[in-house]
Amino acid sequence: TQFSELGLAAPLVRALDAAGYTKPTPIQLQAIPPVLEGRDLCGIAQTGTGKTAAFALPILHYLSENNRPRPVTGCRVLVLSPTRELASQIADSFRKYGQHLRLSVATVFGGVPIGRQVRQLQGGVDVLVATPGRLLDLIDQRALSLSKVEVLVLDEADQMLDLGFIHSLKRIVTLLPKQRQTLFFSATMPRAIAELGDRFLSDPVKVSV
Ligand code: AMP
Repeated sequence: TQFSELGLAAPLVRALDAAGYTKPTPIQLQAIPPVLEGRDLCGIAQTGTGKTAAFALPILHYLSENNRPRPVTGCRVLVLSPTRELASQIADSFRKYGQHLRLSVATVFGGVPIGRQVRQLQGGVDVLVATPGRLLDLIDQRALSLSKVEVLVLDEADQMLDLGFIHSLKRIVTLLPKQRQTLFFSATMPRAIAELGDRFLSDPVKVSV
């Protein structure tokens, strides 16, 4: 199977060709079709399996097919990541695969001054990749609203719990529109993670690699 056969928009297929990706990985084959259909997804997959592209590609396809203004001090797609390193990698992947689309991708994380991040969000962004603590700080400062989020991704949910983000995540979910698509990824799925997933997901397709 090729990426074009999965129904991804031509500008995305071009970016994948340029990146030298010849065929989808197993998680991409399993995840891309249901996400393109708008389903929620619960995926068990480790780093290195191609899971970033498994969620970034169908989200970019959705954005390319559904042109809408960027919400002021908001975002259309929110990706939650446990660490700043992973957040930066995810943002880079969105930029690489979306290079032929006119999208703005921003990253926010703690440990650096907040002012630049506040300014970055003023005009709104299409895709925001964030760590949970700094995300809530920006919301509390009225620099960010989640009321226009259409797609939510929780990446490395098990790491989020290990790093003590459970209360932040429970608060974030109350601030999101109920009408949205949610993609949830974890390397492992013990009971605490599955219960966290239940809070976020609605009738998800389950995939595992
Ligand atoms: P990830 O699991 O998302 O961290 O991705 C692992 C690595 O695989 C990254 O360096 C990607 O650029 C690369 N990759 C993802 N999908 C593909 C693919 N279909 N073909 C070749 N490389 C890929």
